Amino acid sequence: MATLLHFRDHPYQCQLEAIVTAVDETGVVTDRTLFYPMGGGQPGDTGIFATADGRSLAVTDTRKGEVRDVVHQLAPGHGLQPGDRLTQQLDWSRRWAHMRMHSALHLLSVAVPRGVTGGSIGADRGRLDFDLGELTLDKGELSERLNALVAEDHPITSEWISEAELDARPELVKTMSVTPPRGAGEIRMVRIGGIDYQPCGGTHVASTGEIGVLEVAGIKNRGARNRRIILRFTEPAGGGQP
Ligand SMILES: [Zn+2]
Repeated sequence: MATLLHFRDHPYQCQLEAIVTAVDETGVVTDRTLFYPMGGGQPGDTGIFATADGRSLAVTDTRKGEVRDVVHQLAPGHGLQPGDRLTQQLDWSRRWAHMRMHSALHLLSVAVPRGVTGGSIGADRGRLDFDLGELTLDKGELSERLNALVAEDHPITSEWISEAELDARPELVKTMSVTPPRGAGEIRMVRIGGIDYQPCGGTHVASTGEIGVLEVAGIKNRGARNRRIILRFTEPAGGGQP
């Protein structure tokens, strides 16, 4: 039975009641979850499972399991059993940083309209690798361009399209290395106002203004044509409004 991905439509929710559906050596599966499982360059969420008998169990990582389950990793000896009720509590400040950086990297793909060959999201920095060819970039100019896109405060929304629709519009896929997951019939698309529209299963902030001020921390050579562009936040996170 697939885990209901509650975070998809409720990325700002930090607390959720859930029921344990499976337990094995890889971790704990619940009927629904607030915890994003590692994927698409975004790390797995961490937080707490508060049990009905008053214990607080640390969730140290979250991964995709089989049959579209989400597996929460907990230290051995947690004692959870199928049927147990618990309250999931997200490490919100970490997740919010991932949401801001994930949205920032979509803006980077707008500012640098070239094929993306890789990427990674962290709580204080993130990166995309591009097949730039002969294009040269200036760190200061790129930082200015990104901060202008942030300041324009474009709304960020998600929608679903069919796999056939995506196949008919291959230009929507910017990542050359990662293809969107197939088999479910539908593909989740993330739209940033009128400036970006691409397949993405990740969590995003509600509008670009929430990302905050960005800086291009580095542009590194990764082979003849490939460049790694590293972003970081230049001000401490304010905490968001869960
Ligand atoms: Zn994405």
